[in-house]
Amino acid sequence: MQQNEVLNTPGLSQEELEDLFAEEHIASSYDTPLRKDAFDISDEEKMKIISRHFREIMLTLGLDLQDDSLKGTPRRIAKMFVKEIFHGLNPESKPVATLFDNKYNYNQMLVEKNITLYSYCEHHFVPIIGKAHVGYISSGKVIGLSKLNRIVQHYSQRPQVQERLPTQIANELKAVLNTDDVAVVIDAVHLCVSSRGVKDINSSTVTAEYSGEFLKTSRRDEFLKYLN
Ligand SMILES: [Zn+2]
Repeated sequence: MQQNEVLNTPGLSQEELEDLFAEEHIASSYDTPLRKDAFDISDEEKMKIISRHFREIMLTLGLDLQDDSLKGTPRRIAKMFVKEIFHGLNPESKPVATLFDNKYNYNQMLVEKNITLYSYCEHHFVPIIGKAHVGYISSGKVIGLSKLNRIVQHYSQRPQVQERLPTQIANELKAVLNTDDVAVVIDAVHLCVSSRGVKDINSSTVTAEYSGEFLKTSRRDEFLKYLN
């Protein structure tokens, strides 16, 4: 279902429309929707606020925060959100990519496949787990291989939708490598689909972004052949 189909569904309340929108996992833009004041306060302040609110959520659910096993959870969640799983929201955490001269004149396709990917669905805040495969053709410079993993990780460490993720990774690779010849494929399982909702444990979602040379069928076929 397309976004405008959802928005044009008659007879639904605003809340029902929003629920439908989330269940269909529709992205509203290619940039992560961030507030203008997103980084006006420090990480420490963010952790204090999140910890306080998460405590309220747990209390509302009826949990006893005096229990030894639970009392540290709000702070742990806050730290995990800010310092780990959503750390990629902060542009300062973007990996600095060192480029090397392509001394071997390697001008063929370079493919890094099966990059482990952990992200989080922005509609449900539960994990998206999968693999990313990236390819590029050198414009004269090459990047350290581990940097490809780090770029994938950076954009994954945000509340995400899988349609947006390959585009964000591809845009970064294009900028860093100074070439349009990049390809990104992501194959991932969404826990919001497998562990709840329709509870489908067998499906995975594949999204891709191709540009430059990779728009040619022969190049794309070559890239996809390496992934098999
Ligand atoms: Zn979801």
